[in-house]
Amino acid sequence: MGTSEKTQLIEKARNLGVKFIRLQFTDIFGVMKNVAITVEQLDKALDNELMFDGSSIDGFARIEESDMYLRPDIKSFEVFPWRPREGGVARLICDVYNPDGSPFEGDPRYVLKKVLTEAAEMGYTMQVGPEMEFFLFNVDKDGRPTLETHDSAGYFDLAPVDLGENARRAMVLTLEEMGFEIEASHHEVAPGQHEIDFKYSEALDVADKIMTFKMVVRTTAQRHGLHATFMPKPIFGINGSGMHMNQSLFKDGKNAFYDPSTPDQLSETAKYYIGGLVKHARAIAALTNPTINSYKRLVPGYEAPVYVAWSGRNRSPLIRIPAKRGSSTRIELRNPDPACNPYLAIAAALKAGLDGIKNKIQAPPPTNQNIYHMTAAERKELNIDSLPGSLAEALQELAKDDVIKSALGDHVYEKFVEAKTLEWDNYRVQIHTWEVDEYLTKF
Ligand code: GLN
Ligand code: MG
Ligand code: MG
Ligand code: MG
Repeated sequence: MGTSEKTQLIEKARNLGVKFIRLQFTDIFGVMKNVAITVEQLDKALDNELMFDGSSIDGFARIEESDMYLRPDIKSFEVFPWRPREGGVARLICDVYNPDGSPFEGDPRYVLKKVLTEAAEMGYTMQVGPEMEFFLFNVDKDGRPTLETHDSAGYFDLAPVDLGENARRAMVLTLEEMGFEIEASHHEVAPGQHEIDFKYSEALDVADKIMTFKMVVRTTAQRHGLHATFMPKPIFGINGSGMHMNQSLFKDGKNAFYDPSTPDQLSETAKYYIGGLVKHARAIAALTNPTINSYKRLVPGYEAPVYVAWSGRNRSPLIRIPAKRGSSTRIELRNPDPACNPYLAIAAALKAGLDGIKNKIQAPPPTNQNIYHMTAAERKELNIDSLPGSLAEALQELAKDDVIKSALGDHVYEKFVEAKTLEWDNYRVQIHTWEVDEYLTKF
């Protein structure tokens, strides 16, 4: 980092009345971590001299090798608009480094950067546009989150202005103050469910923005007396929350998925990218759908994908090609949910797409019929696979997929599988309400 860049940032922070700076990074499981410093320490932080104990972060380091350094990404400086102007708070997103100056292998941001470098070596940059869905629930008199909402609106409804609508408006305004370009925000299908879409941009920037987005939405909801959740399927019987991932590759400033000379105006590159996504879909699910609860969303009847297929028209498959062409040509991956670690989820999808391009993996023919109306035999005939039905199944698929594993690197792969296996085992031995209701009187 140049000295002038550094001096400018310190001056900017002081001029904005910033007193505290939060140095942020994301752990392997997609949880944002931060350490607050005062503006007086910013100089030191920008010289990458700030150390923290990595052994207290889940999945990071062992006690005996726990010293880690934070290297702020100077472009990520943003003031928190909801904090006081006087003695304000700003944040810097950081990369995590080892004491010897090498990047820490367990840093999800590093994992994504590595796959982006691989893409760059092939001449590509990746653009991503996420569609963030979430629920807003009431809190009880003690401030604890409930599963209740007062709103009974549905898709695109203009509800009589309720708490949720007000909160969503405040979220959009806050995000804009923090440098987001909001393209759309609307009520989603389920009561209490909302969606906010921000403009696509370069993959690393978008992964950072997804983390910031979740923080802003939760904080704003809380300030409106509501609880925001990115849990994929909080309530049985109604839609869950997805995080559709629109993605495209650019080469020499042009959209590499667009080719006006083919019948569907999709390039060969786009087809191979789809081929890669389809081939690795079952392993990618472990990263895009990383919780027990994620798999309760991926069931028929709630607009979430269940089968591994693609289509230009139909919304039911895993991969959809929105109608826009030219520089907006893109592939929409529909299984990711907002509980995923966006760095790892994007890295996994990109890795699969690049594998498709490198190895010329043919995409299967598009499926334009409704897959949900097909019998198992018809799906088998068309070679249509299902997404994993559980986290355990997804982990087994990941274990078999050397390409996706190599994107994660040994450290992240091992820590991820270790923790997720434990999560599955904890869940597996519980007795759920459904079982009691079903069996207690029957047997
Ligand atoms: N909520 C749906 C899902 O789980 C998506 C609904 C939509 O955006 N069409 O993916
Ligand atoms: Mg949408
Ligand atoms: Mg939606
Ligand atoms: Mg969508």
